[in-house]
Order: sequence, then C-alpha cells, then structure tokens
Amino acid sequence: MTVECRSSHLLAVYARRDVPFVSGHGCYLIDETGRSFLDFGSGIGVNALGYGHPAIEAAVARALGSGLVHTSNLYRTAAGEALAEHLSAASFAEAVFFCNSGTEATEAAIKFARRTRGGRARTDIVAARGSFHGRTTGALALTDRPAWAEPFAPLLPGARFIDLGDREPLAAIDPERTAALIVEPVQGEGGVVPVDASVLAALRQWCDETGVLLVFDEVQCGLGRTGTLFAYQQTGVTPDILLLAKPLAGGLPMGAVLVNERVAAAIRPGDHASTFGGGPLVSAVALAVLNTIDQPAFLAQVGERGRVVANRLQDLVRTRPRVRTIRGRGLMWGVVVEGDAGNIVTRAYEAGLLLLTARRDVVRLLPPLVISADDLERGLALLREVV
Ligand SMILES: *Cc1c(COP(=O)(O)O)cnc(C)c1O
Repeated sequence: MTVECRSSHLLAVYARRDVPFVSGHGCYLIDETGRSFLDFGSGIGVNALGYGHPAIEAAVARALGSGLVHTSNLYRTAAGEALAEHLSAASFAEAVFFCNSGTEATEAAIKFARRTRGGRARTDIVAARGSFHGRTTGALALTDRPAWAEPFAPLLPGARFIDLGDREPLAAIDPERTAALIVEPVQGEGGVVPVDASVLAALRQWCDETGVLLVFDEVQCGLGRTGTLFAYQQTGVTPDILLLAKPLAGGLPMGAVLVNERVAAAIRPGDHASTFGGGPLVSAVALAVLNTIDQPAFLAQVGERGRVVANRLQDLVRTRPRVRTIRGRGLMWGVVVEGDAGNIVTRAYEAGLLLLTARRDVVRLLPPLVISADDLERGLALLREVV
C-alpha cells in the first residue's frame, strides 16, 4: 500500500519525493512499495558506511547498553576524548571541539578565528565563489548563493568573497580587517569543484604572511570521501582549522572543529559551548566510523573505486553530447551536463538509482564509501542509461 507522504505539518522548506523509505541495507534503500534503490547520494554524503553497517550497529547497541545517551559537557566523556585523540593523531590538530552539524562547525570556526586574531578590528571572513558553509546567518553569509541569503539580510557583516580562478584572488582583501579565510578543498554544493593544490598553497602563503587563519571546510569532502582521510592531505597544504560533519557519526548529528596549537592556545573556557556536542552516544558511534574509515586498506579501496568512476564518466564525456565535463576526487564526482541536472536525477530515481544535483547543471555522485565493485558498476550503468 502506498501512503501519500505530503507531510502537511512539516514546514515546507524541502521539496521531497513522495514515497518514504522504510529500510536500508548496504548501499540499497527500500521504499514502502517494496522497490529498492541503489544509493549514490548517501543521504547527501552522510552514509559513508551505507545502511546497517555492523560497526555502527554495534557501537549504538554498546552505547545504549550503558544507558548514557547524554551527560552534558559539565562532565568528562570517555568516548569524546578518545574521538578527539584519534582525530588529532590523524591530523595536524592540537584540539577538537564537537558540535552537531556542519553549519555549527562553521559558526564555531568564525568565533575561534576571531578570538585567535585578537583585536576587535580583525573580524572579516573571506570565502570563495561557489562556496557552501551552511544555512544559519553566519554560515549563510559565507555561502555564495545570493538568492538564499537576500530574503534574510542583514546576515553576518564582514563576509567577503574571492574568486579562486583569479590570478591574485586576495588583492582586494585587507588582512588587518580579516580573521579567517574559509575554503572547501573540494567544493560540494557549488558543483563538485576540486581546488588546485597550487591555489591552496598560495592561500596558505598569504595566511602565513598576514596571520589570517586558514579554515578548510571538509564537511562534505573529508573523512575518506576523496580517498585519503582528509582531502587536505592530497594537497600538501595544512589549514589552521578543519571542519567535519556529514559522515562523522554514521548518520547521527555531529560536527567537529579541529584546531592547531595557535588556535587552541587562544581559546578560553566559556568562549563557546554546545549542550549536545560530543555526547557519549554520538562520540562512540563516530569513533566506530573513524576506526572503520581510517584504515589504509579502506582508503585504498575508495581510491580504487574512484578510478573506476573516473573511467566510466570519461566514457560518458566521449559518447554523450549532453555531458560536458566531469570533476572529482575519490568517490565524490560531478557530471556537468547541458541543461537541467534535475531531470537526470528524476529519471535515475525512476530507474532505481539515487543521485544528487549540485547547482543547476551538475549531477553529483556521493556513493557510500563501502560500495562493492559490482554495485558501483551497476549504478554507473544506470547513470549511463539515463543521460
Ligand atoms: C552540508 C555542508 C555544510 C552544512 O552542514 P549541515 O550539517 O547541513 O549544517 C557545510 N559545509 C559543507 C561543505 C557542506 O557540504
């Protein structure tokens, strides 16, 4: 039986497909009519381990067995400390702050950067054209979507945008007014755009010369998505602050802000807080996710699968006139098409394949990182049929 899912009492901020999913297994979702869908969207980059992954189920069961879903940040949390330790050991970070979403990670980074930069004058934040950093009034100010921002102006003041394609993107920026520069090493919502390592290196150099903090938003491209634990590790450029969220806690809400020694030294008790941030349940699940992803064999397999995707998509560029170009790293790909990518996503849905868009003309692929070679080929064949 199909139940209409108009959800009339949910605030109408989302356009949703009609038929709800009732279960998931591996890389497949089952809807209430019994149809199964191969998921190349991972719940927008969240379900890196797919559905029903044993490591996540075991971590949830163990954490619930202790009775501690939440204790508050008035007390120490062993799982949160272990998670911070793992993230620090695996990165440049000296310390980690936990929150509950990517947007909150952006907001925390704004405050941490301002605090670290001291004086009240150095408050501007510079973001890149094509950026996405979240939807609250701070994060949205740093997101390059004027149509989303305009109805809600004024947003956070002091947001400036640079074009990373410019020869000297920072020429007009006054570092003495600036706290931080925020960039996604691979832009997600902006169309799956990997930023050249040479461009990131130039930003790093400018930040080193001026004292402005370099923030990498790896909410979408981090945690194994590009074939290394962090996307920055493929660029030779290290940020001062790194943002994580989407896949971090296996579908439970969690964000993290990783900071280097300089930032950690500037932050004082009371500077920021989150009631739910880093609680026992989400931290235990995130630790299980991280232990699964941060394995050489796991990451090597993401790279391997990514090369298959690149090859198959190159075929599309050669054989399908509507496909203009492809961009991506690891298992994060954009297929730039002529016309509306949404039509392709709808046709794929009808054929049993879940895809995403990014802007109007990009079909975005974010399959679960655990996808098998067979499922990957199957999804790529379906994609081929619908473009
Ligand atoms: C999704 C996303 C965010 C916002 O995360 P939410 O959890 O939706 O608040 C921020 N930055 C990037 C790069 C994202 O992809």
